[in-house]
Amino acid sequence: MEKGVIIKGIGGFYYVRTSVSEIVESKARGKFRKDNITPMVGDYVEISTDKEGKGIIETILPRKNQLVRPPVANIDQVIIVFALSNPNPNLQLLDRFLIMAEQQGLSIVICINKVDLEMEDIKEKIKNIYENIEYPVIFTSVKDEKGIEDLKHYLNDHITVFAGPSGVGKSSLLNKINQDYQLETGKVSKKIGRGRHTTRHVELFHYGENGYVVDTPGFSSLGVENIEPIDLMNYFPEFRPYLGQCKFNSCLHMQEPKCAIKEAIGLNKISSHRYESYQYLLEEIKNIPKY
Ligand code: GDP
Ligand code: ZN
Repeated sequence: MEKGVIIKGIGGFYYVRTSVSEIVESKARGKFRKDNITPMVGDYVEISTDKEGKGIIETILPRKNQLVRPPVANIDQVIIVFALSNPNPNLQLLDRFLIMAEQQGLSIVICINKVDLEMEDIKEKIKNIYENIEYPVIFTSVKDEKGIEDLKHYLNDHITVFAGPSGVGKSSLLNKINQDYQLETGKVSKKIGRGRHTTRHVELFHYGENGYVVDTPGFSSLGVENIEPIDLMNYFPEFRPYLGQCKFNSCLHMQEPKCAIKEAIGLNKISSHRYESYQYLLEEIKNIPKY
């Protein structure tokens, strides 16, 4: 038996990369269908080979997680891309992406693209807010080929997905880091009003020794409806040192007296921008009807 990763699935065939230079076209054992399991791109599997050298997937190793859009298993890192300008960065939306990624337990890298558009104030602001929270922030320009090496540095040894709003340059960055994967950039079908990747097959491309990158950007629309109000604070890493120190155990850090989070904001340990995002998301979550 050989171990490998499913990098692509088309018409009942799974393409399993078993080593740097070998991809084995494989079928899944019938038993998976009985158990209602379908192999996914990103699955770590064990295969045997038949006489003709075709693979047979014998085991699917337990999944760490699975994304629905794009359908990929075992993602361990997300690179959240925003643009410095055009479109202007909506930092509340960035926080929403961060919460989502925290909830999935992913490592996070923030990538601010289009730095050729030179907006120093907003660049400093982003640096100040997010570098203080342990998130790596890298600044790139596909146009001027800046920061691409910094970006590549994060791709080894992970399965990485890019995420972010449309128009920020995700496809351009993906193209840049793997010129073999010429994604169509810059075009969105107006007729159906959906992204251009909706009919493509999702595929992992290989990066470095053990890195894989999902060739299609992930979660571009984000729901927070499955977060309980009391859990939201856990997805703000900079809140963590203060949790449990408020007067009330059930403190949601809003109007409650003697709140350690609000004291930390007063001392500039937590940015007021992040706290505003927290308040905003908390209100939103509280107002979602529960059935
Ligand atoms: P996506 O929707 O996030 O995948 O964004 P695209 O990769 O399709 O890029 C959207 C637009 O931004 C295209 O017109 C790109 O040519 C442009 N773009 C991408 N990267 C840069 C950059 O670094 N600087 C500038 N000025 N434009 C860029
Ligand atoms: Zn509190």
